[in-house]
Amino acid sequence: MPGPGAKDYYEILGVPKNASQDEIKRAYRKLVRKYHPDANPGNREAEERFKLINEAYEVLSDPQKRAQYDQFGTVGETPPQWGGGPYADFGGFDFGDIFGDFFDSFFGDSRRSTRRGRPVPQRGDDIEMPMSVTLEEAARGAVKEVYIPRWETCKRCGGTGAEPGSEPRVCPTCKGHGQVESHRRTAFGDFVSVTTCPTCRGRGQAISHPCKSCGGQGRSRARHRVEVKIPPGVNTGTRLRIQGEGEAGTNGGPPGDLYLVIHVLEHPRLVRKGDDLYTDIYVPFPIAALGGSVEVSTLDGEETLEIAPGTQSGTSIRLKGKGMPRLGSLGRGDLIVRVMVDVPRDLSERQRALIEALAQEMHVPVKATGLLDKLKGWFAS
Ligand SMILES: [Zn+2]
Ligand SMILES: [Zn+2]
Repeated sequence: MPGPGAKDYYEILGVPKNASQDEIKRAYRKLVRKYHPDANPGNREAEERFKLINEAYEVLSDPQKRAQYDQFGTVGETPPQWGGGPYADFGGFDFGDIFGDFFDSFFGDSRRSTRRGRPVPQRGDDIEMPMSVTLEEAARGAVKEVYIPRWETCKRCGGTGAEPGSEPRVCPTCKGHGQVESHRRTAFGDFVSVTTCPTCRGRGQAISHPCKSCGGQGRSRARHRVEVKIPPGVNTGTRLRIQGEGEAGTNGGPPGDLYLVIHVLEHPRLVRKGDDLYTDIYVPFPIAALGGSVEVSTLDGEETLEIAPGTQSGTSIRLKGKGMPRLGSLGRGDLIVRVMVDVPRDLSERQRALIEALAQEMHVPVKATGLLDKLKGWFAS
């Protein structure tokens, strides 16, 4: 009988190393009948033997476990995994404990940190969202709040995925590492491959009672409010990065970032080209001819604009520094005001007569209406 320091599962079951699953099963059934505590009341040796038989069968009947075991031969230094009675902890047999301890002593600390270690922390995904701002907001900067749909750590279970009151167990396959190594010894050397644990998919935990809120995912979809500071000068297409406001990370990884893609809404009067703004202003014909001043609305409010006598329609006047702020630097663009001479419409008879008089004075042939004769009378009154 093998001592506790050197367990040969094949020897315990009395089967050859290349035994088929059927052979293993047959040998196990035979031995269980022989060493079952019910058949050997009060026999400590039979009880110990029965435990070993179960332990051996637990490993050799599982192809995955058997393959791992085969690569190392006899497992030593393993404390018994059994608690009370012979059946008490059978279901909770922790295969991972045996191999976890073994791997650790086999590879030593230097490899544990790279190959093994905790489940790999993963950074959360970035989120990209469009955001509309008015031209005024783009010019002055603004603080806006946005609501982002994103994954957040589940509040009910605190991200463990286990229903409160139940504890997530350490995954028995990977012993909480989230990865499993498989070793192959061949004529060309030893091959080691590391893969994500198939049992827990890298979480390192086994959940018996999934959280009712998140269904065991440990995170849930939520509308998250973020206050965003819009810097002065943003333009359509500007991407604002808000660090750490993306999706939550997994396994303790950092969150992703939030990217807001700016769309500047059209302004009723001001058109933006780069840092400059353009606007049209309609100036009454007498002001264009004789000069005067008009009000023009800018980002900074109403401004008085001097119109020189004889200003032609289409003339541009540049107001320095009245355009958009330059993003990330000092200074501002210009406001370019295009003067449009407002030709009067819907004239009264008197206005019409006056323009006809002007036309006559300027020797400009116009469509006469005979109103000129009345003009004298109107002025005399
Ligand atoms: Zn939950
Ligand atoms: Zn696992």
